[in-house]
Amino acid sequence: MVIDIKNYKKIVFFTGAGMSAESGVPTYRGSGGIWHKYNYEEFACQDAFDRHPQKVLDFHELRRKSVLECQPHNGHKFISELQKSHNYVTVVTQNIDGMHQRAGTENVIELHGSLWRLRCDDCSITIDDIGESFTNKKCKCGNYLRPDITWFGDMLNEKVIQQASEAIRNCDLFISIGTSGVVWPAAGFPQEAKSTGAYCVEINTERTELSGLFDEVIIGKASEVLTDLSFRT
Ligand SMILES: [Zn+2]
Repeated sequence: MVIDIKNYKKIVFFTGAGMSAESGVPTYRGSGGIWHKYNYEEFACQDAFDRHPQKVLDFHELRRKSVLECQPHNGHKFISELQKSHNYVTVVTQNIDGMHQRAGTENVIELHGSLWRLRCDDCSITIDDIGESFTNKKCKCGNYLRPDITWFGDMLNEKVIQQASEAIRNCDLFISIGTSGVVWPAAGFPQEAKSTGAYCVEINTERTELSGLFDEVIIGKASEVLTDLSFRT
């Protein structure tokens, strides 16, 4: 590894499912995970919520429980420590599990929302709701609050994408971790970073369709590769 973190002023880490998987967080699609027995589309879309809000909330409480049983790993901790000592470290993530925040990272840009927030679209409010069970299930207006997560069939939050793009266009080191990046807008991120001159690094357990776009591809686990990176700074 030849990356010397000290040479960079603005660093963006872009993390996906692989980052959380190293902590043991089950993914929707992972085989053998606890979601295997659920047809997730019955629980993770607006239609399902409109029909059976309580059932959908119960399902998301199960997800919260499974996430709380997992802990941030050394890769999460490395990023958090780096942010404390480096002015411009931004995390953009596809994960909804809040693992970066639990490791102490601040200002995380969550492309797909968070398991730890609820919202009412009628009232345009979002509220933090942390813990195994939802503290609030209904809004003051009487509606059920829905998890502030991008479900199947939902549009992404335009403001959040803009925030991510801005951070990525302004960085000089872009490190993608544990994401195959084939889905928009993630697919455009390496190009966006490169277009303004950033050095682009991919860390993943296998090569991806986007690997060719990166200046450097490191095959390995984030918890190990990042620890190695910290060793060299
Ligand atoms: Zn409301």
